[in-house]
This record gives sequence, structure tokens and C-alpha cells, in this order.
Amino acid sequence: MSRNNQWMQRDLAVLWHPCTQMKDHETLPLVPIRKGQGIWLEDFDGKRYLDAVSSWWTNIFGHCNPRINERIKQQLDELEHVILGGFSHAPVIELSERLVQLTPKGLDKVFYADNGSSGIEVTLKMSHHYWQNMGQPKKKRFVTISNGYHGETLATLAVGDVALYTQTYKALLMDCIKVPSPDCYHRPEGVSWEAHSRTRFEYMRQTLEENHQEVAAVILEPLLQGAGGMRMYHPIYLTLLREACDYYGVHLILDEIATGFGRTGSMFACEQAGITPDFMILSKALTGGYLPMAAILTSNQVYDAFYDDYDTLRAFLHSHTYTGNPLACAAALATLDIFAEDKVIEKNQLLASKMGEATEHLKDHPYVGEVRQTGMVLAIEMVKDKATKTPFAWQERRGLQVYKHAMQQGALLRPLGNVVYFLPPYIITPEQISWLAKVATEGIDLATQG
Ligand SMILES: *Cc1c(COP(=O)(O)O)cnc(C)c1O
Repeated sequence: MSRNNQWMQRDLAVLWHPCTQMKDHETLPLVPIRKGQGIWLEDFDGKRYLDAVSSWWTNIFGHCNPRINERIKQQLDELEHVILGGFSHAPVIELSERLVQLTPKGLDKVFYADNGSSGIEVTLKMSHHYWQNMGQPKKKRFVTISNGYHGETLATLAVGDVALYTQTYKALLMDCIKVPSPDCYHRPEGVSWEAHSRTRFEYMRQTLEENHQEVAAVILEPLLQGAGGMRMYHPIYLTLLREACDYYGVHLILDEIATGFGRTGSMFACEQAGITPDFMILSKALTGGYLPMAAILTSNQVYDAFYDDYDTLRAFLHSHTYTGNPLACAAALATLDIFAEDKVIEKNQLLASKMGEATEHLKDHPYVGEVRQTGMVLAIEMVKDKATKTPFAWQERRGLQVYKHAMQQGALLRPLGNVVYFLPPYIITPEQISWLAKVATEGIDLATQG
């Protein structure tokens, strides 16, 4: 038996994997990874895979990056963890200073959680609590856009809208107001992204006008609806939304968990709309893909609404055990150093145009409905009928066929349903992009036959 196989057997005897129908592994081999180096992952039989999805969108500077490794090792010999209630430490202070400095003006305070979903939960509670502290307890509902994704705990599922994840748990979810998304995939022929997203804003404006007295916040993913199938929209929507939230007295929460740290072409997606949200949540690439952590940034104005004598009970008493873990902070600091030293955002422009060029030919593919891109994310939507954009039935699992082909070739592509996407680490080379496009094209050819 191969070494991969041995590890697989041991795994399947005791593990239950995320986002997986475990029965699939009767026929689809699980891949035990022995080591990671740069963009490559290597299994126990010595086969290598190019990590084109950045290990679930987290790893931006490669596996076992020497600079991040070194920083964590140094931190490990100083302080591995300390309670953050009543105590503090250098990495968490430095990181908070740098995040405040790096994010748009008006985000002044940082709160930490230990994963993306928890970061969203913190934010929903903070917004809700803010309005109570301000004597407006009626403002307690959340407005979201369709096809959004904010995590998979119960409150994050409630503000999300990807049926595959939410439907089963519907009875457990709080009631939210959902507005049609500004997603540009189904825009009418000849209409620009900007015009489409602007038109779609009317639903949002109307909803806020009618409901603002009971709305605490609008929450959405800026520019890119990731788990919803890498759907994209124009920054104008966010610009208009900021104005409307100010006008109607509603918080704007931007979930930058997937978009933050350069993914959409700017350091943060909201920069492209020239706005500052009331709350911004960061996670995923925050630690370079090393350790779980989320940062919630908000304004002094929000912070001040909680600042009072203890017995007023206005404090935000939310706590996660590993809040502000020093090792995670060290990984994040090393990640920010790389951004500062290597001019990453500028260099990514070349890689982004390379991704566009390498996949240009797929626009004419008979079973591709759209090739779309925002910065360092490129998505190819396979369809049954190109003219009407009728999707393939999900039961056919066409994306899985692309996955299998890519794995054979040594590339980790993990389509979302019928959407094949590249979301690579920023250390990818132009040659690797060309090769990836070739593998994806073959995979799409195979998957769309018959
Ligand atoms: C991944 C993701 C989350 C959830 O983060 P977890 O760490 O998996 O809980 C929330 N929002 C967005 C936009 C994400 O992409």
C-alpha cells in the first residue's frame, strides 16, 4: 500500500472532514499532505500540487515562508499565549497599531476573535449593542444581500444566503432582510458592471427607506461574493451604500475576510469605493494563512458608546479564550512586513493581467458563461447553455471533474459548483499562471463533454 493510502486509512477511521460528504472518499482519494513549500504542497507519495486556491484563500505568501516562520519561532521562545483580559503583550499592540494605520481613516479600535465566523458574530453583537447603548433598542435587524456568505455558525448563516449551507438549519436562524445582490453575472446584454450595480442599488435604498428605524446594520462582502460562486460587482454599489447608511442612520459592516490583504487588487476592497465602513472584519490572509485569527475594526464613535462606569452595564463582555494569541499576531506582523517590503500590491497588477490573458480564450468556450476577474481572483463559470447562461444541474458535479483532472496534473483547483476559479498565492509566477490556465482549460473541456 502506498504511504498516501496508509495515512488515508488511518484518517478515515477517526476523522470527519469539513465541507465533505464523507462517502465521497470511497471513490475520491483523500490527499494527505506531508509538506508545503512555497506554492507547492507535497503528498506522502512525493507528488506535488500547485495550491491555486491558497488553501481556502488564506495563504498569500506561500507555505513555510521563511520570513513568517522565523517571526513565529522568535515569538514562540518569548511568549506563546497570555489571557488578554486585563493583560496585554507587544505583538497584539503592534499589530493593532499597524491595522489602524493601514485601514481607511476612521477605523480606530481593534477587537480580536479567533476565526472569521466568530469575528462576524462579534460585529453583529457590537452593532446591536451599540444601538441599545444609544437608547434605540428598536434598531436590531440586519439587512444583507442575496447570495452572501459570512461563515457557518448560526448567526453568520442567518446573515448569509448560500442555500447549500443555510437551508437545513433554517429553523434555527434569526430573521434578516435580504435584498437582491448587485452581482453582475446576470446583467442584461450591453449593460456595464457599473450601470448594473447602480440599478440594483435601488432595492437597497428602498429597503433602508422602509425599514431603517428597525435596522442596526447592513452587512455584505465588498466587491466579491466568494463562497457564493466568486460573483462580483462594481464599487459604485458600496459608495452609494455608504451614503445611504449615513442618511438613514444604519451601520455599514464590511466582511473583508476574503477580500482583505490585496485580493481584489487594492489592500482592502472598500478602498476602491473610497469609503470607510463602521465595522471591518479581517481574517483568512491576516496571518498569511498560518494561524486562525480575526480582527474587527471599528470607530472611536462606536467604542465610546460602550465606555462608561462599570455599573451602567454598557461594556462589551464578549470573550474568546484565544483572543489576540501572540503567535497569530506574530504571523500577522510578518505578513504585514512582507506587504511593506515587497511592494506586493503593485507587483500583483502584473500577475492579475497575466491571469486575464491566460484565460482570455475561455470566453469563447461553448460551455463557459462568463470569465470574470477582480484583482487576484479569476472565475470561470461553466454553463449548459451559453446564450441563456442556463447552469448545469448541480447533481452532475461538473466542477468535481475539473478538480479530479487538475489533481492528476498536479494542481489544486477546487471549484465551487460549476465555477472554476484561481485565487492563488501572490508568489505565483507568470509561467505557473499559464500552466494553470492550460490545466483548467483541459479540465473544463473534459467536464463539459456530454
Ligand atoms: C471564510 C469566510 C468567512 C468565515 O470565516 P471562518 O474562519 O471560516 O469562520 C466569513 N466571511 C467570508 C467572506 C469568508 O470568505
